[in-house]
Amino acid sequence: MLELVQKNRPQRGNLALCGHFRAIGYNQRVSMQKKSSRSAAPKSSTLKTQRAKRDRASATRRAPRTPALKVLSAPALAGLPWLVHGFSTRQGGVTGEYGGRQLNLNLTPEDTAENVARNRERLLRKLKAVKANGSLWPLALLNQIHSAAIHRVYGPRGPEYARLRRDHLVATSGDGLITDTSGVLLGVKVADCYPVLVADRRKKAVGVFHAGWRGTQQRIVEKGIGEMRRQFGSKPENLIAVIGPGIGPCCYEIGEEVESAFESQFAYSRELFEDVFDSWSLKTKYPMLFLNQRAPGHGEPALSRHLDLVKANWCQLLDAGVPEENISTMDMCTACRTDLFFSYRKEQVTGRMLAVIGIR
Ligand SMILES: [Zn+2]
Repeated sequence: MLELVQKNRPQRGNLALCGHFRAIGYNQRVSMQKKSSRSAAPKSSTLKTQRAKRDRASATRRAPRTPALKVLSAPALAGLPWLVHGFSTRQGGVTGEYGGRQLNLNLTPEDTAENVARNRERLLRKLKAVKANGSLWPLALLNQIHSAAIHRVYGPRGPEYARLRRDHLVATSGDGLITDTSGVLLGVKVADCYPVLVADRRKKAVGVFHAGWRGTQQRIVEKGIGEMRRQFGSKPENLIAVIGPGIGPCCYEIGEEVESAFESQFAYSRELFEDVFDSWSLKTKYPMLFLNQRAPGHGEPALSRHLDLVKANWCQLLDAGVPEENISTMDMCTACRTDLFFSYRKEQVTGRMLAVIGIR
């Protein structure tokens, strides 16, 4: 019997030092959308008829329905019955900004604390992070500072837990949270940075890490696994790790300072960068080319350097001893999918999503 194996992810070469990194497929989607040029102006009588039709239609049109709250779950973690986890999207909240009915989960200059609280409640109810008496689990969030600082959330006798009960926040700076206490949801706030969720299926312990370029460069995920080993006795082979949605190498152009920061830290740093030909940066860098109507392609080609943060964090998980088959990625670019995600790089003025994990 023939077995049809569909390979939809290109295989990349092995990485020199980070072990047998297997390909994560990214679509380098460069779509050029031409605005349709307006044809000859219609006659005024035609316009009147069209407007009357449009007015009639809008009078009978129902108010747009609130899109359902959409939370993504990772197949690798969905099978653990004791685990609660999810990657929020922008869809299905009460925030009027950023396109309306958005699920903004952290206070921004444009949104209100009341909206954020209502959005957070929606998320927790959707995930069934609810106590027997109907009240919500505490949600532990950090004051994120793009560091590699990791904090443990202890049980009811711990100092953090007391603060959690009071205001649902760990008023501490850092970018990683770990716990083996049930009934607490750990979260990181993201809008392009990568959230990484880790679950120890034997010890029933969890971790969440905020990995932007600075946190990744400071090896937050590698240190996070080390903390789980130290604090819970976690064995890497029992860990399941998921790299959530974030800005992909398709959209993440970086400057020389980021490149040299990675070079100073990782022997395999060259494997993390890609040179991408970018027509937009060509226009930005060489505007005279276009003013002079010089034929495209006759100037110096504009190559921009892009960073692959998924690959970087994948390597760190491997280096920490997590087996490759236990690592997965959501494989979604926040900047390519602003219909689904907030993207700080793409939108500048935007909301924040949460990636959360907890123990029932
Ligand atoms: Zn992209």
